[in-house]
Amino acid sequence: MRFAWAADRRIFFTTTSLQLIGGAIVFLQLRLTKRLLDQMTAVAAHHISVASAMKWVAALVLVTSFSTVSTAVLAQQQRLLAELVTRSTWQQILDVAAAVNLRAFESSKFFDRFSRVQANALTRPYAMTQGLIGVVGGFAGVVGVAAAIISIQPLLLPILLVSGVPLWITGRLQSRREFRFAVGQTPRLRLRAYLLQVLSERGPAKELRAFGFGTAVRKGFDDVYADYVHDLRRHVGYRSTLAFIGSLVSAVILGLTIAALVWMVGRGDISLTGSLTAVVGIRLMGTQIVGMFGSIQQIFESGLFLDDYQDFVQLKPDADKAEAGDAAPAGFSTVEVDRVSFTYPGSRRPALNDVSIRIEAGEVIALVGENGSGKTTLAKLLAVLYEADSGSIRWDGADIRTFDRAGLRRAIAIIFQDFIRYELTARENISAGRGGAGDDAAIAAAAHQAGADRFLEELPLGYDTILSKQFKGGRDLSLGQWQRVALARAFYRDAPFVILDEPSSALDPRAEHDLFARIRTLLGGRTVLFISHRFSTVRSADRIYVMGDGRIVEQGTHDELMAQGGSYAELFTLQAAAYLDHRHHD
Ligand code: ADP
Repeated sequence: MRFAWAADRRIFFTTTSLQLIGGAIVFLQLRLTKRLLDQMTAVAAHHISVASAMKWVAALVLVTSFSTVSTAVLAQQQRLLAELVTRSTWQQILDVAAAVNLRAFESSKFFDRFSRVQANALTRPYAMTQGLIGVVGGFAGVVGVAAAIISIQPLLLPILLVSGVPLWITGRLQSRREFRFAVGQTPRLRLRAYLLQVLSERGPAKELRAFGFGTAVRKGFDDVYADYVHDLRRHVGYRSTLAFIGSLVSAVILGLTIAALVWMVGRGDISLTGSLTAVVGIRLMGTQIVGMFGSIQQIFESGLFLDDYQDFVQLKPDADKAEAGDAAPAGFSTVEVDRVSFTYPGSRRPALNDVSIRIEAGEVIALVGENGSGKTTLAKLLAVLYEADSGSIRWDGADIRTFDRAGLRRAIAIIFQDFIRYELTARENISAGRGGAGDDAAIAAAAHQAGADRFLEELPLGYDTILSKQFKGGRDLSLGQWQRVALARAFYRDAPFVILDEPSSALDPRAEHDLFARIRTLLGGRTVLFISHRFSTVRSADRIYVMGDGRIVEQGTHDELMAQGGSYAELFTLQAAAYLDHRHHD
């Protein structure tokens, strides 16, 4: 009720009052039927004229047509209310998605919950409001019919009400089963959704064709679907059986009521017109009771999902609390990573093992090392996206965990190796760097610094072009061009600490060389940490950390590392030789 009330009070009020009025109408309809039957017997016996019975016919028509109109209005109002409730549910779910710690996105349990809540956000509030409105209407109807029946023969009422009990019991059993079914099927439905995505989106389309992998994925989709349908059949069978038993027992009880009625007519406890009306009343009561218990079941069933939903929504305040802290500084003069270890959730091997590095403001620091040695992980910890399991990261001596994390992130611009290519306008792809705030001159300047201005300006709508062919008038870019757009995003952020994870891997060697030659001027005075595999670019860094197997294995300037003759010197020589070899062949 709180959900519906919060979504829109006026509609909530209209729908519930219409339902209550509905109950009164049922009562009136039954009383009018009784009156009409009395009148008809009188007409048949020539006690009164046909014309004098007509005003009761008119009254019945009036009441009935009012009920038809109110049902129609109700259906539309209900639809609107359901949509409003759905919207507020979505809003809360998305708030959670935006707030939870990145760790959540490493766990399949989180995705199961997330997808279950998402799937239900669309349907459950609708069922819930329908159920709620149905209960109010059903209850009002039951009261209306009950009042009419009491006025005819009170003894019929208790037997009638008992007929609801079997529906209540089987309804609850069905609901519990439904919830268990939904929880059990979530991983399978997520796999189905993923396969659907692989088969229908642009990204995988070229590989599926090139490798002929589409048929296998398609078969996987069919298999998952077949398993689901198999379980669904069993589940539906169980529910149908329960529904059958509940309805059967109810119907038997209703039958007993009618039998009692016949018995009463025989004993002369009830008039003939009264008994005729009672038959109509019992039929109506049957419908009202089924409706009411059906709605109660809907609420109960949705309620189980709503509990699930509320647990999920609770993740946001928890996440907010975990990220809160003192007001963050706008920058630092020294960052110390002190004996930091970190293991990804669900892994056994630590990705970082007792790592210590030191970064002074204004320095250009390079991280090098083999694939999987922990460079990206260290960058993510420095960008305050994950927290160390042990050890600490300190800004000017203060542990960053004492600060408000969102505030710290404002001082950092990070470009990931797998940066996001937003299928939005070029402008938005750059303004994302300042949380979406757009300043055209600064956007153009950032694009210029990243060497993205020329090709962006040449797009049909310039910076307003959508960078995706999925949308009308959209254009796609090459990988190297995308990388420049991502760089522009980082430059646009205008943060004192810039982290670049292989920002130039798709640039040609000359472009990359130009970029790094300019990086000091471009990022004048800022602290830069970059990860690269090309030693020619690494060479110019103020300090180089070489990582291996989650540890720092060597550190120093290029010259120092070359003098040490360790793995850095070896790899540098190798790359230089390859380069010379290449030049020689040219
Ligand atoms: P690099 O950037 O040096 O290539 P990473 O920091 O990406 O290395 O990875 C370090 C280690 O952590 C690797 O063993 C990798 O398999 C593991 N790893 C990286 N990302 C994840 C993740 N999200 N979950 C679990 N393990 C991960």
